[in-house]
Amino acid sequence: MSPEDQIPLFRPLIGDEEIQAAQEALEMGWLGMGSYVGQFEAAIEQGLGEHTRQVVAVSTGTAALHLCLLLAGVGEGDEVITPAFNNVADFQAILACGGRPVFCDIDQTTLCLDVERAAELVSSRTKALIAMDYSCLLAEHAEVARLANEHRFRVVHDASHSFGSVGPAGPVGAFSDLCTFSFDPIKSVTCIDGGAVVVQESTEADRLREMRLIGMTQPASVMYQNQRAQTYDVTNLGYRYHMSNLHAALGLAQIAKLETITNTRRATCQAYNNAFTGLEGLTFPQTDFEDVTPFSYYVRVHSDRRSDFRKWLAGRGVDTGFHWPPRSQVHPVCRMSAWRPVGNQPGRR
Ligand SMILES: *Cc1c(COP(=O)(O)O)cnc(C)c1O
Repeated sequence: MSPEDQIPLFRPLIGDEEIQAAQEALEMGWLGMGSYVGQFEAAIEQGLGEHTRQVVAVSTGTAALHLCLLLAGVGEGDEVITPAFNNVADFQAILACGGRPVFCDIDQTTLCLDVERAAELVSSRTKALIAMDYSCLLAEHAEVARLANEHRFRVVHDASHSFGSVGPAGPVGAFSDLCTFSFDPIKSVTCIDGGAVVVQESTEADRLREMRLIGMTQPASVMYQNQRAQTYDVTNLGYRYHMSNLHAALGLAQIAKLETITNTRRATCQAYNNAFTGLEGLTFPQTDFEDVTPFSYYVRVHSDRRSDFRKWLAGRGVDTGFHWPPRSQVHPVCRMSAWRPVGNQPGRR
């Protein structure tokens, strides 16, 4: 089979609309944070429906996670419970705050955080918990919220995989304490580089707007008119985490296609579920994909048979990726060298 016949692991849906949007953003002559960023935030807020939430666009999903953990007050020695099966970005965001990741096992059916296990990991040093939605399934957010209320820590909902999805409590982004999105090149909706934080309180939105702009207090409303603020102050530590007009313009073009993106992904995932039904030794997402914008599709297969299965799929033109390499080579992210000194011993209550 020639390489052209292969179905790639992912391919972004970039068409004339995105190319035109990029050109318009470049021709506008205001390359930094400007009108497109304001429109991009408004488009996301609109998707959250009548739920009143504020969206603050940032440069990456990693930046969004870092800022959320700072809002949660994570500092030196504080513990953050996270699924062990998570992106490197989440662990790095914890380290960036001086915090310690406390790795939690995942649920066998959702591959998201196992909330009962998380409850066992709560300690007096727990400052926050990251609940990540994996692939095309959502974490048990109501259970997570109950645990967080009981022990008074903040929840960061890493919704990098679930932009556009709807959960039992409404659209993803509309029901969490703090929620983050990523719009990196492989995500369902991409800005090439981009992220967003969703918060409930204006005071937190204001803090985020300062922190993303190297601490400068100038109002976003002025910049969203492609104008410079005449005066501003700096009161706190900040980062260069804002989104640029070019990236926001691409994101807007993508959001306009969200229905197409969702429908094609749902149909593809459902086709795989149908094809795999009844095959022994395979586990796949137990969902009809009704309410989700699937980010990826996965199959679990016994490690002894994984390479054969991948070869078999490749022979039929289906490219695959995998978590993680065989034990003899590299470890899962939670066992990589950077976290080894951390171990997994939460502090005592
Ligand atoms: C992509 C991703 C991130 C990081 O987002 P970037 O935009 O690449 O910085 C974090 N968490 C999860 C679960 C992701 O999939």
